[in-house]
Amino acid sequence: MLIIYLYIFLISCSVKYSIAHFGYSKRQQHLWAQTFKMCAGKMQSPVAISSKKSLILPLPALEMIKFHNLMGGTLVLHNNGHSVSLNFEKQNSDEQLPYVFGAMLTENQNYVLQGLHFHWGNKNNRGSEHTLNGVSYPMEMHMIFKNTAYPETAEALSNEDGLTVLATFFQEDDNESLSPIVESLPVVKWKNSRANLNVTFTLNSLLPKDTDTFYTYRGSLTTPPCSEAVTWIIFSMTVPISFKQMNKFRILSNGEDVLAENYRKLQKIGNRKVYLRKLTPKFTDNPELNFNLNVSSLNWYWQ
Ligand SMILES: [Zn+2]
Repeated sequence: MLIIYLYIFLISCSVKYSIAHFGYSKRQQHLWAQTFKMCAGKMQSPVAISSKKSLILPLPALEMIKFHNLMGGTLVLHNNGHSVSLNFEKQNSDEQLPYVFGAMLTENQNYVLQGLHFHWGNKNNRGSEHTLNGVSYPMEMHMIFKNTAYPETAEALSNEDGLTVLATFFQEDDNESLSPIVESLPVVKWKNSRANLNVTFTLNSLLPKDTDTFYTYRGSLTTPPCSEAVTWIIFSMTVPISFKQMNKFRILSNGEDVLAENYRKLQKIGNRKVYLRKLTPKFTDNPELNFNLNVSSLNWYWQ
């Protein structure tokens, strides 16, 4: 019996060890698939997004519920060595976390907020995971939502409609949108450090002004285990971040070096389609076309 326990202990340690030690250098990224087979899958992320190659459709809006709720107070900012993240958990059973539905997400399913984190570069010409029309942005934020049809995370990760991630690109500008999070970054300089956020913010304040226009495609987590469970929603409008704020990300430590360049290389799109939700006059002037668009009939398009 003791041997069985020891064996289970070793297995669980090795899984934690591998996930905790994946690296972002070219050579290290190449090794991900040795431990996590899915990282060599055919529906991997990130991908290069091109507006010309996307299929424009008057898709239903992405409904974003409780995005004006004040978050914070008890939130903990965490430097996990790969990124800085915020995880959201219900404080009590009455509380309802922000959630999304609509767009090309599975019909009649809600996706509830789990957490958010960032990917960034050392220089402004790189850092985002996805690229848009050949452009890499200095930073990309991921807000992760889990389909409530799958109560357990493991279950969500093994279903292609288990998660949706809202991706936002940041572009250097004089304006600042990320202050509540950026102000706490110096406290989480070191790997495995955590800090209570002592300010409140709304999810909406972290997003672009226009969330009506977005790209959507089926892909994966961009970190091991690379589960192919993600419906990506990528806003075409960027959010401003100042030079000073961007540099606060670039002084964090991953334990060995500066924590930056934490983005995965582009993956092959294969025969997947990328849809662009854009309300062109052609569509909005034709109510019949809007009315007749039945999202469930589009399901086969995901192939
Ligand atoms: Zn991410």
